[in-house]
Amino acid sequence: MFLLMRLELAERLVCPAAHVRTPLIVIAEETQDRELLRGTAGCMVCMREGRIRDGSLRFVAAQEGAAVTSTTRRDDLRGAGVGVAIDDDQLFRLVALLGLGEAGLPVLLAPSYAAAASPLVERQEAMVVVFGVDAAGPRGVAYVSGCHDAVPFADGSFHAAALDETMGAAAAADAVRTVRVGGRVMAAAAMPLPPRLRELARDAQHWVAEVEAPAVVVPLRRA
Ligand SMILES: [Zn+2]
Repeated sequence: MFLLMRLELAERLVCPAAHVRTPLIVIAEETQDRELLRGTAGCMVCMREGRIRDGSLRFVAAQEGAAVTSTTRRDDLRGAGVGVAIDDDQLFRLVALLGLGEAGLPVLLAPSYAAAASPLVERQEAMVVVFGVDAAGPRGVAYVSGCHDAVPFADGSFHAAALDETMGAAAAADAVRTVRVGGRVMAAAAMPLPPRLRELARDAQHWVAEVEAPAVVVPLRRA
């Protein structure tokens, strides 16, 4: 079974630009079962647009004053873990740390975990999004790129996320926002914990943490 950008996830896309969080309007050109193969995702507020090809989403640079993206290019994919094999022990560890006991859960992966994307789709039927890598395929994985420090998904879209240092602090914090409250986030031990995480465990390689509810600002009411 090949899963591409699942419609469940496409429906949760939000604009990565710095304005009020706004759902993207997705126009599907080609779908297959519950998978979106080809289409366009656009923002009605700032007209930012993303192209969906082979189930992967790449945001087009905004016309003027566009910041240079920190997206990992195809040339860097080997370093990013694409095409690098992951062994069973590593995969088992990842599944355990991310709490992917059930099949079919949505997972966000940073570039250095890209090698795990296909195995997670094949073994766990996970819905996998790899952030910050401009690539199409291997089939079954949605790559999302061209969106700088913003992870273009609504709050709580993912069951779990694996972060890395290539994301930077802003992108890491935004990734935490896209994981549901109580969901798992993990990263290499050297990476500082982004806000809103409660550390659950740590060893020489990784830490794993749980997403806490966002702080609620209670407005003071005038008597
Ligand atoms: Zn926008």
